[in-house]
Amino acid sequence: MRKTVSFSRHSANIFFHLLTRCNLHCRHCYINPEQHGTRTLDIATIERWLALFADRHPSANVIFLGGEPTLHPDLSLAVKKARELAYASVTIDTNGYLFHDILDKTTPAEVDFFSFSLDGPRPSVNDPLRGEGSFEACTRGIAAAKVRGFDVSLIYTVSRANIDQLHAMPPLLAQLGVDRFFIQVIGIRGPWAEDAGNRETLAQVDRTAWLDVIPKVAEKVAQKGITVTYPKVFLDAQETFECAGLVADNYFIFPNGRVYRCPLCEDFPLHGLEIRDDLLVETPRVNESDLFPLSIPEGCVMNRIIQPRNLPPADAGRPDYKIACCMLKEEIIP
Ligand code: SF4
Ligand code: SF4
Repeated sequence: MRKTVSFSRHSANIFFHLLTRCNLHCRHCYINPEQHGTRTLDIATIERWLALFADRHPSANVIFLGGEPTLHPDLSLAVKKARELAYASVTIDTNGYLFHDILDKTTPAEVDFFSFSLDGPRPSVNDPLRGEGSFEACTRGIAAAKVRGFDVSLIYTVSRANIDQLHAMPPLLAQLGVDRFFIQVIGIRGPWAEDAGNRETLAQVDRTAWLDVIPKVAEKVAQKGITVTYPKVFLDAQETFECAGLVADNYFIFPNGRVYRCPLCEDFPLHGLEIRDDLLVETPRVNESDLFPLSIPEGCVMNRIIQPRNLPPADAGRPDYKIACCMLKEEIIP
């Protein structure tokens, strides 16, 4: 069953970056220490910040991120605290190296998903993007998680560099026992995006290429019994555009206390909220909240500002299509 997953009005998602440090140097990494610092939050702070959001949004989902969150020695304690605070679900995003024996310090009852990142169906595609040996480490990590009974999801970030290899993913996903597959569109943000060469080789694919490839591969993945989610990216001119910043409760928390409502804003000091003395406070205007209500024919206003190469072609000033909110997804449940 295919459906567009509109933004939920009833649940909140807390994307909690515990640190910005990572053992890898992926070519398209969006982590920006200039904006978000190099601090690793201590466990006492993590617990207080988890409580802050649990108070504000009972039954939110929490996703622990980094950098590489398993580099945090107290990640397992953060997971236990999230459970104690009755978060609806707990996910750990990881590059697969699974430091500090995290699989032995948590249980499948505590962690809903370990979510692995892999950008190619074999080392020759993945490793030039994510680092030598990262395919092997990631697939080994998936196998170790499955053996211990954890549910596993996998994220594939699509760019011009690897869209032509996506078709080879369905058999690999089945072989690895992956439970959910997320196709992601590369974000042209983070320090790497300042390099013109990188921007060319890792560019987002155009609408024709996206629509030719992504839905078909997604169907094949679903035929293997795996739930698959991918961003909608493009809206027909007559489709309704909505900005998640106005209608959904997503929070992207960074270790320096910045809290964004829109991931595309993360390269700029545009955060609408910040944590100060363990309180969540609004930041002075102008901030991202001033952008969300702006209505433009091209759809997402932030895309227009930071990713103008993606703008739809226009006929007599009217764009042929719109760019959807990056949080709008299609989901196929087998
Ligand atoms: S694994 Fe994630 S945080 Fe680490 S370098 Fe790659 S994209 Fe960045
Ligand atoms: S990606 Fe665009 S539409 Fe979505 S929250 Fe950000 S500004 Fe709004």
